This record gives sequence, C-alpha cells and structure tokens, in this order.
Amino acid sequence: MLRQVAKAAAVARDGPGEVDLSALGLHEMAASLPDYVRMVAAGCERGFASAFEEMTRVEVAAREVRITNQRIRSSGFPYVKGLADFDWDFQPSVPRAEIEELATLRFVERAKNVLFVGSPGVGKTHLAVALGIEAVRAGREVRFVDCARLVEDLEDASSRGILKKRLKYYAHSRLLIIDELGYLDVGSVGADLLFQLILTRYEQRSTIITADVGIGGWGRVFGDDVAASAIADRVCHHCHHCHLVKIAGRSYRLKDLPRDGPVKA
Ligand code: ADP
Ligand code: MG
Repeated sequence: MLRQVAKAAAVARDGPGEVDLSALGLHEMAASLPDYVRMVAAGCERGFASAFEEMTRVEVAAREVRITNQRIRSSGFPYVKGLADFDWDFQPSVPRAEIEELATLRFVERAKNVLFVGSPGVGKTHLAVALGIEAVRAGREVRFVDCARLVEDLEDASSRGILKKRLKYYAHSRLLIIDELGYLDVGSVGADLLFQLILTRYEQRSTIITADVGIGGWGRVFGDDVAASAIADRVCHHCHHCHLVKIAGRSYRLKDLPRDGPVKA
C-alpha cells in the first residue's frame, strides 16, 4: 500500500499518465486525480498534502463499502433488507425497542441467541436478515442458512466422514442465522446433528433462529420430544440467554388485500 501511495504521489507531482492508478485498484483516486492535479497546478490555496489526504480518505471509504457489500453477498442472505425497510406500523406486535436494542449487537458480544416465532410472512426472516447485515457492517462474520438445507448439509457431511470439519465451519461464524425451523420436519438424525451444532455454539457464539412453530411444537418438528427439548434448552431455556420475539399478525405478503381476505368476483 505504501508503495502504491508513493507512486500515486509521484503521479500527482509529475503529472498524471505515468502510472495507471486503476491498475493499482485505486479507482476513486484515478477518477479524481486529474481534477486535483489541475487544482493544485492552478495554485489553489489548498496544498497538495491536504488534497492527497482527502483522496486517500475517499479511496479507503469506497474500499470499505466494496468489502462490506462483498461480505453481505457471501453471507447467504436470501435478500438484502434492513430495519429501515421494515414497516413497524403494519406489524405492531413486533417489539420495536427490543429489535433496535438487538441492532446494537450487544447480544452478539454476549453470545446470546434470538428466536423469532410467528406464522409465515410476518417478517421473521426480514428482521433476522436486517440484524445479520448490521453484524456484517460491524465487521462480524455472519452465516445465513435455511434450516432444511443446513440439516441436509450436515447429513451429507456426516455420510462423507467430514462432519467435524463441517460443524467447525458453522461453529466459527460469529452470528449464525438458521431460517425457517419447522417448515419441514427434521427427523431424528437431523435433530442430533443440529443439536451437536447448537452445542458447539452454546454460550460462545450467537444464533438467530426463525420458526413458524413455538418451542412447544418442536417435538413434532424433530420427531422426538427429548431431542426437541435438548435443542430448545440450549437455544433458550434460560431467559437471560435468549431473546424470544413472538410476532402475531397478518402476512405482509397479503398487505394489499382487504383484512377479511381476497374479494371474490
Ligand atoms: P417470514 O416471517 O415468513 O420469514 P419475511 O420476513 O420473509 O416473512 O417477509 C415476507 C416478505 O414481506 C419479505 O419480502 C419482507 O421483506 C416483507 N415484510 C414482512 N414484514 C414486513 C414489514 N413489517 N415491513 C416491510 N416489509 C415486510
Ligand atoms: Mg421466513
């Protein structure tokens, strides 16, 4: 980087054209250099050092945005939406203050979990994605995964004898978001694998789970009450260890339909 800056400084001193800043990945500088050189050459009051410092700052800021966007893309989110896109008035049962507190990411620092429960379309995934994006922006490693796909992936790893490695991969993320628990039944092998994963993260790393069935219905999901309560226990048995957010309301997907359902012709 120092060498790049020195080269850029040489360009600014000797005039543009000798060094291709874009080839060095300094796109913002490349775009603004001619203007700055002209300004400095024209005897603008502003000194070279201050102009160069500003160019560097703009370049660094643009690079940070690029890296963050790249990390958002690679975290596995199904869509990119933030809390600013959430219509609080539409879903008054969502505890806004609690969600905004979660967005400070203190729960990630304390390795607490979050469980969103509610019927389809009420905004569980949206809120989980929004918190995940906040965490990426704060430089945390985040992985978003669909529950059925996660279980399938762990089963596949187990059959290939690389379960330990795969568990390590998921255990590593600072924040793991397991989406749509309960949408498909998991089965006892899957439940055991999921339990192992939850155990590796227990009190070490945060997990957000979205589910359309409350904990009381997890026995059916996992086909086994013992496995279900073992998982539920590690996720949220202790209230101080988990934020439980229950959302009761209409599906946002039906927002534009009248309250009593579609009007029949
Ligand atoms: P689910 O609860 O089934 O996970 P989603 O969070 O995926 O539902 O919401 C379904 C769609 O509706 C998404 O596109 C989401 O962004 C949008 N949505 C849900 N609730 C709201 C809301 N209160 N304000 C704005 N968009 C919402
Ligand atoms: Mg969802």
